[in-house]
Amino acid sequence: MKLKSTIFIMIAMFIMNVHAVTKTITTKDFIVHYEDYTEKYAKASLKILTVVKTSAIKMGFSFPKKIELRIVKSNKTILYVRGDNPNLIMWEFQSLNDFLAPKESKHNNVYALCHEMGHVSMGNITPHYYWMTSDYDEGWGNYFGSLMIENVYKQLGLKAWPNQHDYQKSTGIKGFIKSLQSEKFKKHPSFTYCSLFWYNLSERIGKNNICNFVISLKTSNINNTNCEMKYVDILKMYKVDSKFIEDFKKNKNYLLNTTSK
Ligand SMILES: [Zn+2]
Repeated sequence: MKLKSTIFIMIAMFIMNVHAVTKTITTKDFIVHYEDYTEKYAKASLKILTVVKTSAIKMGFSFPKKIELRIVKSNKTILYVRGDNPNLIMWEFQSLNDFLAPKESKHNNVYALCHEMGHVSMGNITPHYYWMTSDYDEGWGNYFGSLMIENVYKQLGLKAWPNQHDYQKSTGIKGFIKSLQSEKFKKHPSFTYCSLFWYNLSERIGKNNICNFVISLKTSNINNTNCEMKYVDILKMYKVDSKFIEDFKKNKNYLLNTTSK
């Protein structure tokens, strides 16, 4: 009996694998791999990534020649940039349900794609270094993702995602500010500060100067032991007001790992 059911499972798995055909779309800037039955989501993702890349280039960011997105069936649902390959966005999904609008799927997929492009854009200048906290990275991804939602909405409208929903209202810049003021985020002061840090810095130096700011950090040879000093120097170089700098000094441990590892 046991053997019979094992054989049955093996046959079922074989049939599933035969039917799951991996397809690829290649454009000038992207390579998207996906299971054929997720095609409409792969195509929608490609359009969104293209808008984000064009918008980020206007802010001064540069990107690797080809960015890869792999949409693969898995036993978990997660979207992330691969640590060993900063040009590769992995989207592991469990079922087609994961691609639906947030109400059904509980996932903000349009925002998540924009957020991951934030990691690709920052990672192309300053990959995750020991002097940054993970909230430094995630706060950036949060701010950049919300900012890019505005561009996606402007260019693709509500039709950006096959299962239409108002992603701009919930995850655009207004939604970003609103969510950071909510009770939920009050429990995460580090992530909240880091998200608002990027927003407030952009408000002061201009969002088209953020890329230059990050390049300045990189060329300053910033490291674990000098990061606070270097950061303050560069904030001053960009003529950020003293109140912002004082606030930064108070909260620096949310952004920076000042001890050497
Ligand atoms: Zn992230």
